[in-house]
Amino acid sequence: MYSEACRRLHREHNEYVLLLAEATECERALRTAALPALLDLQRRQGEATATSWKNILLEVVQRSDFNTDKFREIQSKVDSTVQNLKPHEEYKEFIEKYKSPPSTPVSFTFDESLVEDTSGKLQPNQLTVDNLTVEWLKEKLTELEGTLQDNREKQAQLVPEANGVCKNNNTSLTNGVNGIDRHSPPPIPATASEPVKLLELRMAERKCAKQAEMIRSALAELGCEEAPSGCPDLSAETVGVDSLDGSSPDHQVGTLEAERSLVEQEWFHGVLPREEVVRLLRADGDYLVRETTRNHARQLVLSVCWGQHKHFIVQTTPEGHYRFEGAAFPSVAELIAWQRTSGVPVTARSGALLRRAVPRETWELNNDDVQLLDKIGRGNFGDVYKARLKTTGQEVAVKTCRVALPEEQKRTFLQEGRILKQYQHPNIVRLIGIAVQKQPIMIVMELVSGGSLLTFLRQRAGVLGARALLAMCRDAAAGMRYLESKNCIHRDLAARNCLVGDDHAVKISDFGMSREEEEYIVSGGMKQIPIKWTAPEALNYGKYTSLCDVWSYGVLMWEIFSKGETPYAGMTNSRAREKIDSGYRMPAPEGCGEDVYALMLRCWEYEPDKRPHFHQLYTAIDNIYNR
Ligand code: ADP
Repeated sequence: MYSEACRRLHREHNEYVLLLAEATECERALRTAALPALLDLQRRQGEATATSWKNILLEVVQRSDFNTDKFREIQSKVDSTVQNLKPHEEYKEFIEKYKSPPSTPVSFTFDESLVEDTSGKLQPNQLTVDNLTVEWLKEKLTELEGTLQDNREKQAQLVPEANGVCKNNNTSLTNGVNGIDRHSPPPIPATASEPVKLLELRMAERKCAKQAEMIRSALAELGCEEAPSGCPDLSAETVGVDSLDGSSPDHQVGTLEAERSLVEQEWFHGVLPREEVVRLLRADGDYLVRETTRNHARQLVLSVCWGQHKHFIVQTTPEGHYRFEGAAFPSVAELIAWQRTSGVPVTARSGALLRRAVPRETWELNNDDVQLLDKIGRGNFGDVYKARLKTTGQEVAVKTCRVALPEEQKRTFLQEGRILKQYQHPNIVRLIGIAVQKQPIMIVMELVSGGSLLTFLRQRAGVLGARALLAMCRDAAAGMRYLESKNCIHRDLAARNCLVGDDHAVKISDFGMSREEEEYIVSGGMKQIPIKWTAPEALNYGKYTSLCDVWSYGVLMWEIFSKGETPYAGMTNSRAREKIDSGYRMPAPEGCGEDVYALMLRCWEYEPDKRPHFHQLYTAIDNIYNR
């Protein structure tokens, strides 16, 4: 069972390595073969057209000999002009003129962090050949060889029919334009799709050939018949690998009874993310139990600090009992109690002993203690409720996370809780806790009476004077000054993400995109960027700092003074972006003083270094307010 999981891991690894090779090969083939061949095809088509025209005109000349002097004179002029038509000359400069500049090769690199935990058993971008993968690799090789054979047959069928367009294909594709015989007759291809089909086949051939070559040399190097043993040293010891595939319902975390007794254990931390768990386990022997989902199956994991952090999956026997390597027990609580008192290591290999149960922290709330009342909003991950904490009777706001969301997204959801946990400031929404004992997981926060600032501005700001609006800006600046001092970049500051409390106090909320870093570079594609609130350097280079928040803060000030209007109204996101790049800035909202507008403009300086910091903004606003 264990080796089945290892085998799978290794196969995934190998598949990843092969895919990288495939991507690299495709990209190279596109650059070095497909594009030049396409250009050459265009040239040949041009030449062929010119030739056809020449033939037509020659025919016209031949058939129109009317024997008059005048006509003969005209005819001879046409004749000599037509004779002088040299299709080959016409398109001589074509390639030079139209070829695109050499493009920079894209490199596809292996994400090395993926194999950090495997103690050298899996090497970055290297196929793993061992007893777990050797059969798979051989099968893969056979499959690739079959595909290659098939591909070559298809090409052989196409080449004679391709009317010579790609006849000299081998050389033309591998050598690019230089390999093409320029003086070969340039007929128009029978159908436009044939050369394209051939190109596709050629590219597929290249990537398969590359993958086959990699597998062949890996097998040859290691002597595949006696492959080395390949049990990876995973950071999570998959003691109960059965539950990994989730195929057997017997093996999933089970009965209501068992769940109830588990939830009652102080050391059960529900779906607390691994990063948090690691933070809680400090000394050797510290342990806790948590739950995780893998391939749609729920698993219980015992996390222990023993030299390093180790994570053991609780195994379930066919009878529904729980065990690691030793005795099995009807409940996880009994299993853990036995592991603790017997002094037997969780696994012989790890030697890990259980010494101190790490209890839930005060901010880890019990889901059953949260009584949801009314729905008050809708967030990215799920609905937001007004709720009551049964333990204290306190009214709170609760963000829920939809049960069906993938694990990765649930982790992102909880990130907001992790960041907020450390902050305490009157202008930052306060975290009360997270409830992760069971689904749906929740973030519990102070209930801010007025709800979203944007809705408030649109519905109720009519009665507010400029001074009250300025006070709101000052509150937001105070909250942001605090965040800046903590090296926290919010990345999504906007009226929709602020809340309004009693006395119109503004609180910064929605830390879903926040990062605790001085500078944060977004490398992958960003999905939903609030373009109209985001600073140019973040849009253009993915570079985020607190000074990007300052840009967004300028837009927030504008929203406050325009009482909830949409910025850059009537412009699409890309239009607004273009206009900003060319120097455009929104005009002052009605009733906004010049000094306040001047501050907005400073927030919208194109160069981040020219923008004020939040502590400067706060002081400037406070001065205007007290004037
Ligand atoms: P998400 O971060 O998932 O987008 P939001 O933070 O934007 O969710 O919350 C959605 C809505 O729920 C807000 O616009 C607001 O109306 C309401 N809301 C969120 N948090 C609170 C809170 N602490 N107090 C009162 N209302 C809240």
